[in-house]
Amino acid sequence: MSGTYLGMPAFPVAAREAVGNTTLRGNLRHATHTIRAKRAKAVTEVSDWAELREAGKQIKDHTLRHLDHYLEQLEESVTAAGGIVHWAADAAEANEIVTQLVKMTGEREVVKVKSMATQEIGLNEALEAEGIHAYETDLAELIVQLGKDRPSHILVPAIHRNRGEIRDIFAREMSEWGRPAPEGLTDTPAELAEAARLHLREKFLRAKVGISGANFMVAETGTLVVVESEGNGRMCLTLPETLISVVGIEKIVPTWQDLEVFLQTLPRSSTAERMNPYTSTWTGTTDQDGPGTFHLVLLDNGRTDTLADEVGRQALRCIRCSACLNVCPVYERAGGHAYGSVYPGPIGAILSPQLRGTGSEIDASLPYASSLCGACYEVCPVAIDIPEVLVHLRERVVQGGEVTREGNKVVLRPAKGHAAERAAMRAARWAFTHPGALRTGQRAASRSRRFHPRTLPGPGRAWSATRELPPVPAEPFRDWWQRTHGGKDGDR
Ligand code: SF4
Repeated sequence: MSGTYLGMPAFPVAAREAVGNTTLRGNLRHATHTIRAKRAKAVTEVSDWAELREAGKQIKDHTLRHLDHYLEQLEESVTAAGGIVHWAADAAEANEIVTQLVKMTGEREVVKVKSMATQEIGLNEALEAEGIHAYETDLAELIVQLGKDRPSHILVPAIHRNRGEIRDIFAREMSEWGRPAPEGLTDTPAELAEAARLHLREKFLRAKVGISGANFMVAETGTLVVVESEGNGRMCLTLPETLISVVGIEKIVPTWQDLEVFLQTLPRSSTAERMNPYTSTWTGTTDQDGPGTFHLVLLDNGRTDTLADEVGRQALRCIRCSACLNVCPVYERAGGHAYGSVYPGPIGAILSPQLRGTGSEIDASLPYASSLCGACYEVCPVAIDIPEVLVHLRERVVQGGEVTREGNKVVLRPAKGHAAERAAMRAARWAFTHPGALRTGQRAASRSRRFHPRTLPGPGRAWSATRELPPVPAEPFRDWWQRTHGGKDGDR
């Protein structure tokens, strides 16, 4: 995934810093509460929402079960329609393919449609290293790029910025990248949007290469689909001579009929709209209409490893609506940057540790970035049981099965962290499998209870500082049972 995030502190450290930023918390609270309320209203308008949700889940599960088949079908369809399909096992391979494709055109700049997959692989940075400038054209992505910032939300990448901050970024940075912001720019939404429109238009009209992701790929016809609200995507997808789309392999749906389900659930879950203002579809190339060359880069980058995990694979159903972020009490307070990934919030907490492995400090901490309240599961339009996967991944981290990726290989390593917890679990296992020793220990603890400390020593001190340790009873439970029920204590 993107090098932008590597080396970030673990979630608890980054989150602690974020919650101390009152401006950030104010921006996040206002934005998430507004979107959350609108989504709830948009969803209640649909009488068969529960059925649509179940249908989305079933379609995704079926497709993932037969992913090999549908990927081959997609490749055949795209090729038959005049497109060229490339397969990328990881981020490095995908970046290399795209960089070479752009170089072959002789161009030094590209326009981009908002795309999580290209952020995941750090494509902009890879292109920049080869002297190719990638211009983001989604308004929020533009704000992030001009501000030399990182996205903090799947759908609203600049959710952490307020209007005043955006005005300052435009006024300061636009001239560095192209057309400057108008003189006397204020922070009214209409003026900010107009400044962005003028700045971007010259890039749309000049660019010969467009780069996109896709929300869906329809296997039966080889059609790619992008949904958006601003129209910038439509410009990038139609005006350039060459279009390169980088798409995760899990974005397939078998048929157009399947697509119909998601075109209903995605807009209501994400922007609370009944349908997306722009739904762009393209199938290969068409003479004299749109890009004359179309490349599709199919990206794995940890997805087949994720698919191999029976519990964790449900994360691949995700349609990136971001509803789970907007209802999450942890995301609302910590913000997106604390998750150290392009995928923040609840879905990021289960997706990043699977795509990247749990070998790094930040990835091993992400399954704990949740109160397990379940609000994310309630709103998810494809019914991903995020709490279930979080607990599953916690188990993976604690059990010592830290999974890392080295190139195309998945490597299991002994866990470095949580040594105290593992030692405590080992001691408990020994005690419960040696009932005689357990009984002796319980009796000793009862007899010496007056001398027990009220707080734990060492690393346990912080835990016990805010908690009352339960008193040890004068008589162990086994002795009480034997005395009151008679018979053998039975090591029960
Ligand atoms: S996990 Fe569900 S709610 Fe969250 S972004 Fe993905 S589809 Fe939307």
